[in-house]
Amino acid sequence: MAIFDILIAPDPGLRAVAAPVAGVDDEVRRIVADMFETMYDARGIGLAATQVAIERRIVVIDLQDRDTEDEEHPEPVRDPHIFLNPALTWISDETSTYNEGCLSIPEHYAEVERPARCRVTWRDLDWVEHDEAFDRLMATCIQHEIDHLNGVLFTDHISRLKRDMIMKKLVKARKAS
Ligand code: ZN
Repeated sequence: MAIFDILIAPDPGLRAVAAPVAGVDDEVRRIVADMFETMYDARGIGLAATQVAIERRIVVIDLQDRDTEDEEHPEPVRDPHIFLNPALTWISDETSTYNEGCLSIPEHYAEVERPARCRVTWRDLDWVEHDEAFDRLMATCIQHEIDHLNGVLFTDHISRLKRDMIMKKLVKARKAS
């Protein structure tokens, strides 16, 4: 197991369009395991392979119960989801807005409006095909991660003014470090 370095915007690698996974082998299994380790280490809820400079259509998500208010389980409960070749097959007209963040855009958040519900097809590590509808935080998160596979960041969905401000601060932070 290993922790990957996460690309930070405006790294051009984040603009890469990832290629489909052709099948599951030991390499894919290792990438998925290391992506989970990287995501948990960074305290994120989702990670796309493009964020760790692997241009393949692999996404891991774990909302860790943050979408529920379960008073009996105040501690986060791990709930890992693996998506190989995830694709949106339907989006709702109705939208919802979340204050989104991103491990590649550290310490910056913005209100992003997206379709409130979506339908997604993907394959798992047994190469079984899935087709499921999502709502609430999961709908937002999977759309955010599929965007990454297409080289799109959440800042592409907000005003140019706000986007430029965030990018300037990220460049400044990189120079300072
Ligand atoms: Zn992200």
